[in-house]
Amino acid sequence: MPNCLIDNFEKNVFNDKVMKERLSNDVYQKLKKTIENREKLDLSIADEVAAAMKDWAMEKGATHFTHWFQPMTGLTAEKHDAFMSLDKNNKMILEFSGKELIQGETDGSSFPSGGLRQTFEARGYTAWDCTSPVFLKESTAGVTLCIPTIFCSYTGEALDKKTPLLRSISAINKETVRALNEIFKENCKSITVSVGPEQEYFLVDRDKFLKREDLMFTGRTLFGAKAPKGQEVEAHYFGTIKENVLEFMKEVNIELWKLGVYAKTQHNEAAPAQFEIAPIYAPVNVATDHNQLIMETLRRVARHHNMECLLHEKPFKGVNGSGKHNNWSLITDSGKNLFSPGKAPHENMEFLFFLTAVIKAVDENALLLRHAASGPGNDFRLGAHEAPPAILSIYLGDQIGDIVNQIINSGQATTSKKGDVLNTGVDTIPTFNKDATDRNRTSPFAFTGNKFEFRMVGSSISIACTNIMLNGVVADAIREMTDQVLINKKDVREVIKETLTAHQKIIFNGNNYTEEWKKEAKKRGLPNAASFAESIKALVDPHTIEVMARNNIYQKSELESRAEIYYDNYAKTINIEANTMIEMASKQYIPAVIKYMNNLAKTINNMKEASKEAITSNLEKTLNDTSVLLLEAKDALDALKEKVSIAETKPDGMKKAMYYRKEVFTIMGNLRYPIDKLELIVDSNIWPVPSYGELMF
Ligand code: ADP
Ligand code: MG
Repeated sequence: MPNCLIDNFEKNVFNDKVMKERLSNDVYQKLKKTIENREKLDLSIADEVAAAMKDWAMEKGATHFTHWFQPMTGLTAEKHDAFMSLDKNNKMILEFSGKELIQGETDGSSFPSGGLRQTFEARGYTAWDCTSPVFLKESTAGVTLCIPTIFCSYTGEALDKKTPLLRSISAINKETVRALNEIFKENCKSITVSVGPEQEYFLVDRDKFLKREDLMFTGRTLFGAKAPKGQEVEAHYFGTIKENVLEFMKEVNIELWKLGVYAKTQHNEAAPAQFEIAPIYAPVNVATDHNQLIMETLRRVARHHNMECLLHEKPFKGVNGSGKHNNWSLITDSGKNLFSPGKAPHENMEFLFFLTAVIKAVDENALLLRHAASGPGNDFRLGAHEAPPAILSIYLGDQIGDIVNQIINSGQATTSKKGDVLNTGVDTIPTFNKDATDRNRTSPFAFTGNKFEFRMVGSSISIACTNIMLNGVVADAIREMTDQVLINKKDVREVIKETLTAHQKIIFNGNNYTEEWKKEAKKRGLPNAASFAESIKALVDPHTIEVMARNNIYQKSELESRAEIYYDNYAKTINIEANTMIEMASKQYIPAVIKYMNNLAKTINNMKEASKEAITSNLEKTLNDTSVLLLEAKDALDALKEKVSIAETKPDGMKKAMYYRKEVFTIMGNLRYPIDKLELIVDSNIWPVPSYGELMF
């Protein structure tokens, strides 16, 4: 019987098996060396590899190739070229040369560069990143060979998210291998940063989606009264998946398996119409590509089923938002996970050393990591009693938390708490061992047994930035601790104790959703940036600049340009939201309310004529309430228009972004409030857009 998992798996990936079959042994070995040992690519192999790729792709129906890259928009970019050129006699031949594989030159002036490049210096280069697999993108429009590349400027500055990600992998690889070999006497050649991102999303009916300008232009609803039924009963979480959604998920899985994305888990999430997909973890650069492909595939396939996939962090007010849990660990070339505590974690110095480095890194760079996990949309999620607050802290759980306390209090740990036996009280079910640690869903950064789960990350952003910063700051902490041992000749135990003592304030095992924690965190001096706009400054903090430069991840100019891009992006996001609100209020809601009032006034007159006093006065009250709310909405609309026009006169950059945050964003709610109230009064036949209830159920 045909099996869609087996038949489709990696069908569209130029994977190891295909390379082995189609390349000469010599070329295959050279390419493997680059992929596995991070050696520089030998350019002499390019022509043969390109020819093999072209033949493979054309056999599968491809006509074009593209360098596939990840500019600062947070999306992916591609420019298609046909496998075609002219020979000496001006005859068309099918060709894809090594040069075309390895390097591309493109007019990059329309991509955000944050001032790194003027439009007259428009050259941007793409360069093949052979550590991420080449794949075929299939759609009804045809088949394209996609070559993952980096994207940089004429002067070599990164204009994308992949270049710094690859640099950060080199940095953490270098520091981890040094610590492993020189302190712990291992024989390690390289390590892999493994990442498994869990992706949450919403699905809504496409016809209804198309009736809502807010969803179309901003990805979230800017208006909308609460539906009579919400997620109160938690009926949706892990509930039976509806058949139309299962059909959608099946197609998503098949498409992803073809691309070598190991999509494994799928389930309903907490909110109605909310779902999650999780692949098996992969090396971080591959996981980053794959997460982009997952987001693209979800959106594309949803349309085949007349649905729209919403990746925004907070599509609906008052309903759980969406995140992306970035599961992260370090694994050596011999397959050892450095965060596996083993049977006796208190004696496992290597584990404690790397654990401590993460604690130190997160504490020293809390604001930077909060920034790197976010975009403007994440502000609605963080601290909304459904997702971790905007304050970073680490959850270690009972077992590791206890060991850390022992070390801080007495210099060393002598015992490890054991996981209990789980007794279900059912005769036929065997007793089994529980995990040593329970889960803590409220923590933004949780140790979950053998990996860290960074839960703060927003659902719509690329995980590249998150992992660039995480890799970078952990690399630096490892370096510093290793220096203490190797250069300052301190005992490893001493270094671990001192470091934990200095950074224990970042550890919090309690409930992160409470008000007490906010107060406690403030006492501990932990940063709490309520908005993305406020977190951007962490990028150009002298400490960040130093850490990133020292580890060859970012030069100062690159960080400055990224801060500019984010400020600009923040201002534009709020600008589009405010303008959409203005448009919807002026052209849809207010006219509908006026129409309703007109009808109501006519009815009141009729009732008066019929001498129905009781109902007349009751309806007059409704008319009065409606007109009060309408006036409120009109005033709020005028105020919002004025603030937006002032905002546009502000100089680009931080000033403009902060103006949008402080003056525009804060009054957008004043317009939403009366309109949402009006939605509950006005006839649903007149109401111009689908309601929350219609969108979610
Ligand atoms: P959940 O957190 O929902 O219980 P899991 O912990 O099993 O689910 O896995 C969530 C994600 O974490 C998956 O993508 C999985 O592949 C990934 N993951 C599991 N182990 C590791 C690891 N050592 N490093 C990175 N990611 C991992
Ligand atoms: Mg999880």
